[in-house]
Amino acid sequence: MATPPLHPDTLAVHAGREVDAETGAIALPVHPSTTFERAADGSFPHGHIYTRYANPTRSHLETCLAALEGGVEAAAFGSGTAAAMTVFQALGPDAHVVASADAYHGILRLLREVMAPWRLAVSLVDTSDLEAVRAAIRPETRLLWAETPSNPLLKISDLDALADIARNAGAISVCDNTFATPVLQRPLDHGFDLVMQSTTKYLGGHSDVLGGALVARQADEFWAQLRFLQGAGGAVPSPFDCWLILRGAATLPLRVRAQSANAARLAEHLDAHPAVEQVYYPGLETHPGHALAARQMNGFGGVLSFTVTGGEAAAVKTAARVRLVRRATSLGGVESLIEHRASIEGPETQTPRNLLRLSVGVEHVEDLIADLNEALSM
Ligand SMILES: *Cc1c(COP(=O)(O)O)cnc(C)c1O
Repeated sequence: MATPPLHPDTLAVHAGREVDAETGAIALPVHPSTTFERAADGSFPHGHIYTRYANPTRSHLETCLAALEGGVEAAAFGSGTAAAMTVFQALGPDAHVVASADAYHGILRLLREVMAPWRLAVSLVDTSDLEAVRAAIRPETRLLWAETPSNPLLKISDLDALADIARNAGAISVCDNTFATPVLQRPLDHGFDLVMQSTTKYLGGHSDVLGGALVARQADEFWAQLRFLQGAGGAVPSPFDCWLILRGAATLPLRVRAQSANAARLAEHLDAHPAVEQVYYPGLETHPGHALAARQMNGFGGVLSFTVTGGEAAAVKTAARVRLVRRATSLGGVESLIEHRASIEGPETQTPRNLLRLSVGVEHVEDLIADLNEALSM
């Protein structure tokens, strides 16, 4: 009888971890060693040579991330941005990329500014509009970069359809799965070639470690190039950072479900609040991507945005008045964070000036509601 595949909650706790053979330790050790001994014949009996290429703690994390995303292999990086940068470097010069217009602003900066000397051309489109994606594809398109739910408007793009469009164009498809996490969405199951994660966010989960990862559906030539660049470029996380992210991963399903439940309650509450203009949350039936999100996700996530009446000044004032929720960038930690996005995204931003983004933590939802009510009552 075949063993049924393990559920994500079980993989989160067990994938990549084995009881330490020498000591019986249940918690994994950290392996800070940068270098590994050769045998007398010059070979490396344990497979490790030098930590930039591979490290045992990093390998444990990569095994866990690959299992969670349903991929064959994962490669860990020092940040989500470093993971994305490696994908763009692997394209070589003169590539054309189609990307979500409201992808993470740091990713768009890589595409527009950092990769400019490589003559990388980028078309930014609303990837929730499939006709716009098809129209943007060119003969030299090498990559389709999608982010769903997107940031900060929480737009939902059709994973099956986007993977199809990329495949028909002979382009590599990558999904930034940071907002959804593998608990809520697995792009590789929908035919995407690669998943990118900022493990700084939900995977780490405690706002205390920076990291990123790429996960592959198949170990093809492009994946070999990414692996080569991981070691040759050296944008790798420290063993201790890998250990922290792996520890965070164990509770990822629990945290994401709690944060999604809190976010759903807050979205409904804010939607009915007189000082709130509009709530952007795919769990609301009025959200244009709701039906699609219900189809391709196992929940709607812990991030929501909302616009307030009274313009930018009222938004900034609301953020100034919260006491429990922290005013900070980033998302996915156990503590709730609020941010005026237009301020951090800079002058080119398309984000509404009166928009606040809320990353909902694991606090009791009634306390969060009380805090936001107080901040909104001007
Ligand atoms: C934070 C974030 C990134 C960048 O990750 P870093 O770890 O900060 O480099 C990319 N995409 C999304 C959606 C993010 O939230």
